[in-house]
Amino acid sequence: MIYADNAATTRMSEAAIQTMTALMNDCWGNPSSLYMHGQKSKEILEKAREDVASVIGASPREIYFTSGGSEADNQAILSAAALGLKNGKKHIISTAFEHHAVLHTLEKLKKLGFEIELLDVHENGLIDPSQVEAAIREDTCLVTIMFANNEIGTIQPIREIGAVCRKKNVLFHTDAVQAIAHIPVNVVEDNIDMLSASGHKFHGPKGVGFLYARKGIRLSNLIEGGAQEKGKRAGTENVPGIGAMAEALTESAGKMEENAAYMSKMRDRLIEGLKKIPHSALNGDPVHRLPGNVNFCFEGIEGESLLLLLDDKGIQASSGSACTSGSLDPSHVLLAIGRVHDVAHGSLRLSIGEGITEEETDYIIRSVTEVVEYLRGFSPIWRDLMSGKKEFIL
Ligand SMILES: *Cc1c(COP(=O)(O)O)cnc(C)c1O
Repeated sequence: MIYADNAATTRMSEAAIQTMTALMNDCWGNPSSLYMHGQKSKEILEKAREDVASVIGASPREIYFTSGGSEADNQAILSAAALGLKNGKKHIISTAFEHHAVLHTLEKLKKLGFEIELLDVHENGLIDPSQVEAAIREDTCLVTIMFANNEIGTIQPIREIGAVCRKKNVLFHTDAVQAIAHIPVNVVEDNIDMLSASGHKFHGPKGVGFLYARKGIRLSNLIEGGAQEKGKRAGTENVPGIGAMAEALTESAGKMEENAAYMSKMRDRLIEGLKKIPHSALNGDPVHRLPGNVNFCFEGIEGESLLLLLDDKGIQASSGSACTSGSLDPSHVLLAIGRVHDVAHGSLRLSIGEGITEEETDYIIRSVTEVVEYLRGFSPIWRDLMSGKKEFIL
C-alpha cells in the first residue's frame, strides 16, 4: 500500500503515539485543579505551549490550543471581524482558493453585512503582494491568505504580503495548516499577526491544533465557559492530544530540511513522469510548491474513476480535497486557477510523505499512466476529443 494522501491527514508518528498513551495513563488530572496531579497536567500543557511557540518563533503567551485548523481559522477571522466592527471597518480581503474553513466563515460574515473581496489567483496559484496592496482600503479590517494551498501546493509570498499589511496597518491572518513543519514558518520574520495550524497534518493527532495571535490582539470566544486558554477558549484542555501534537511538531520540524529535500526530489520525479502522459497538465506553480505536492489534470477522464482504479493498485490518493469529493462540483481551487469544469473533473492529487521510496514513485507513475490510458479507452469525452468533435484544452 502506498499512502499518497498526506494533505488530507498524516499517520501519527511513533513518538507522538507513545507520548499520547503515556499522558493518558499517567497524566489524566484536570489542569485547572490545584492538587499535584492536576498541576502535573498543567505543566505538560505549558511545556507543549513553549515547544509549539519556539517552532514558529512566537512567545508561549501567543499560543491558544484549539480543536484543530478549522476552529483556529474560524476564531481568527471572527475575532478580526469583531475588532473591525468596533471601528466601523467591514472590508475583508482573501482569495478564491482558501480552505472552506476560511471561505465559509467569510460567507457567514457576508450575511452579517461585511464586504468580502476575493483576490484573483494567477494561473500558477500565486497572489502578488501588489494585488493585496491595491485592494487594501481605509475600512479593511483583515487580510486572510493561506500560506500553502492544500490542493495544488502553491506557497504564497507570505512575508511580502505580511509586510504590505504591516505598512497599511491591517491585521493579517494566514492558514498555515499545510505549511507548518513542512516549510520554514516564522511569525516574526514573516510579518504574521494570526496563524492557524493543525496537529494531524504533521504526524500529530486529529482534533487538536493551535491559533497564534500576536500579543495585543484581542480574540473573541467561539466557545464560552471556563477560563482556560486565558479565557479565550473554554473547555477542559485535551492534555494528551496537545502533548502529542507538541511532540510531533518538534520531531517533524527537526527533520524538516532533510525531509523537504528528499520529498522535493521524489515530487519532481513524479511530475516529470506524469508530464509524459499526453494531454495532461501540472496544476500550481512548479517552483513555489510544497515538497510533497503533485497535482495534475488529465483531459477526457473522471478523477473519481482514476482514484478507484489506483486504489485497486494499492495507491491511495485524492481528487481535489477530501471535503469536496462526495459532491459533484469540481474543486473550487482548480476553478480559481482557471481550469474549466471538464478539465477540473479529471484531477489527481498525490501528497507524498517522507517515507516514499524511489521504486514506489516509479510504480505510481506506471500505474497512473496505465489507468489514464485505460479510462480514456471508453470515455465518450475522449472519443469526441479524438474525433475532433471537441477541442483539446490541454
Ligand atoms: C486540513 C486543513 C484545515 C482543517 O484542519 P482541521 O484540523 O482538520 O480542522 C484547514 N486548512 C487547511 C489548509 C487544511 O489543509
